[in-house]
Amino acid sequence: MAEFSLIQAIRERCAVTRDDVRLGIGDDGAVLAIPGGFELIVSTDTLVAGVHFPINTAAEEIGWKALAVNLSDLAAMGAMPAWATLALTLPVADIDWVQDFADGFAQLARQYQLALVGGDTTQGPLTITVTVHGFVPTGQALLRSGARVGDTVWVTGTLGDAAAGLQLLGDNSDLGNDSSMALLKRLNRPSPRIAAGVALRGIASAAIDVSDGLLADLGHICTQSCVGAELAVAMLPASAALGALFDADQRRGLQLTGGDDYELCFTVPREKTAALAQSLVHFDCGAACVGEITGGDGVRVNKSDGGEMALPQLRGFEHFSI
Ligand code: ADP
Ligand code: MG
Repeated sequence: MAEFSLIQAIRERCAVTRDDVRLGIGDDGAVLAIPGGFELIVSTDTLVAGVHFPINTAAEEIGWKALAVNLSDLAAMGAMPAWATLALTLPVADIDWVQDFADGFAQLARQYQLALVGGDTTQGPLTITVTVHGFVPTGQALLRSGARVGDTVWVTGTLGDAAAGLQLLGDNSDLGNDSSMALLKRLNRPSPRIAAGVALRGIASAAIDVSDGLLADLGHICTQSCVGAELAVAMLPASAALGALFDADQRRGLQLTGGDDYELCFTVPREKTAALAQSLVHFDCGAACVGEITGGDGVRVNKSDGGEMALPQLRGFEHFSI
């Protein structure tokens, strides 16, 4: 019975009507109609308590973030979100927690008219797995493998904010000022860059979302495109809040290796520069040119004085790395 009322609470809060959902929550499977001329993009991400968010994070923020990190993957593919499923593992049947969680999830889902069409509810250590489904016109998905030598490298928004917020929590810093609150918001309520991803169809040669840190994620584009990249550290975009609370050295480390920002990193062929400039009006965030695709492999970072930055231990987050 408890399981049924939890599912019911989620279902009520996440009610979104879409014509392409022929049958949603309630049967053994959802029945969904894919529009003609589009390809289906599917992506899954799991959040584990204590690994992907601090254990005392508010349920509403966990709900938002569980969906946001998944929508960020759709953004990086250039997809429009349509449907999601939610596999929820809970230590206890805490209805208040589930209601708050579902409210956070629903706040973001409604922004994209995304329908929750199914899921599973089980008992165990707090773990949330969301699968999202979105559409891209046939052949137009943005891939990691399309970057070419000479393309420029761009990022949306600002970098390092979420990792800075996490550091503030760990340091027991004063969290009451505007800058701290702005950084914590970036950690707990990331904004998936869907509008930017859609606007980049036909313009970006490659794209990825920055979930593990710019160096690591641009590194994936390089590996899959068989190219190298050079970043200019002075061009990395920083928020006012990051600038207010961290010195230049700390800032660089956070911008290059901090995870959880969910910005997009993308590459643009030189002949598409004018098209990109026009498409920027459709972004709900800015974008900055931060470097260039080169021959060779791996990512190099140039300091303002022209010298190359040593990158000894600067790596993104990896599971199973220790
Ligand atoms: P089954 O035994 O067939 O797996 P369940 O009792 O697990 O069915 O689920 C009943 C219905 O509720 C299904 O349509 C399922 O997709 C949906 N559901 C279960 N858990 C969730 C959840 N956490 N979020 C959304 N839908 C859910
Ligand atoms: Mg089930």
